[in-house]
Amino acid sequence: MKITRITSHVLQYDMPEPLGYSQQYYDKRTAHLVEVETDEGVTGWGECFGPGAIALANKGIVEGVIAPMVVGMDPLDRDVIWHKVYNLMRDHGQKGMPMQSLSGVDIALWDIAGKAAAMPLHKLIGGAHRADVPAYGYGMMLRPEHSTDDLVALFKDEAAAIRDMGFVATKMKTGLGPRDDVRLCEAVREGVGPEFKFMVDANHCYTTSDAFYVGRALEELGAYWFEEPVAPEDHDGYRELRAGLSVNISGGEAEFGRWGWRAILENRGLDIAQPEVCALGGVSEYLRVLALCHAHFTPVINHVWGSAIAVATNLQLLAAMPPMPGGLHPWEPMLEFDTTDNKFRDNLLAEPLDIQGQVKANGGRVAIPQGHGIGVEPDRDFLRHYAVAA
Ligand code: CA
Repeated sequence: MKITRITSHVLQYDMPEPLGYSQQYYDKRTAHLVEVETDEGVTGWGECFGPGAIALANKGIVEGVIAPMVVGMDPLDRDVIWHKVYNLMRDHGQKGMPMQSLSGVDIALWDIAGKAAAMPLHKLIGGAHRADVPAYGYGMMLRPEHSTDDLVALFKDEAAAIRDMGFVATKMKTGLGPRDDVRLCEAVREGVGPEFKFMVDANHCYTTSDAFYVGRALEELGAYWFEEPVAPEDHDGYRELRAGLSVNISGGEAEFGRWGWRAILENRGLDIAQPEVCALGGVSEYLRVLALCHAHFTPVINHVWGSAIAVATNLQLLAAMPPMPGGLHPWEPMLEFDTTDNKFRDNLLAEPLDIQGQVKANGGRVAIPQGHGIGVEPDRDFLRHYAVAA
């Protein structure tokens, strides 16, 4: 089999309302899908992490840099392809957009391998440790032109609504500044009630001392984890926070490749690792990073963002994740699920995953797709409708 063409599909639409996290507000939803075609009619799909202009620039890397290196190669030689591309791009980007671009191509190659072997990705990796996974629903995003008082009321109601949708836990954003952020966290605890699990995502907006201030409030509120409290480069800050707080410190979505992950794991600053398969280097590199995390006895809950391609890929990986450390009632990963408006997740597929319907009907759990490869196929008319010109 030979790779004949690699195409980036960048999709976009205007959001019904602008949403935000600690770094910015955004009013467009973007997805970047990668299609790898072969001379035997087997086509693979992948996805690259990165919104807006990042997606358009990554399309340039996928089609202009990576495709010329690998067209004509056997798509089943995915590890050879990974290292050829990485080694040729190394001098120009060991992290960031080149790795996001390689990720989409690598995921598509694993999709092709599954289709060629007539088995789902989780079977190709080594089998399903679980037939379904519990899902947590994230929401409680920042909104522009809302006062803190408005957001407090809104977050409280939204947290209760996500709990009532059937998710097993929920996650909120912070980013107004430490004092107002603690008010938002209190509102979410009030909204979900005293027992329900909730997590807090700062998207690296705090100094270490501000993170300690918010983190101590989270200890009082019984939050489950405190995500990306400080900048991903701030390894000392992570280590000090983990040593000084009892709330779980999570992060890793902005880390790339086995070498970057080795550094943050050896630093001992993470209670929970959140690798992003569509950014860190695809399925090939995710499996190496997962092994590194487990070698450090650090549990993994995948970071999930993007379209139904990313969601399906992550469901496959969550199925294939070995229990660590194992037991009669083992610690379990969760599927991260964004509850805000996303047509690329809900309407992209010819046969939708209907995550929300499954969560409602099955006690917060989502089944692993059983089709070959990543187990889903995008609808071509949908792709054409939402495609943006590069
Ligand atoms: Ca996050």
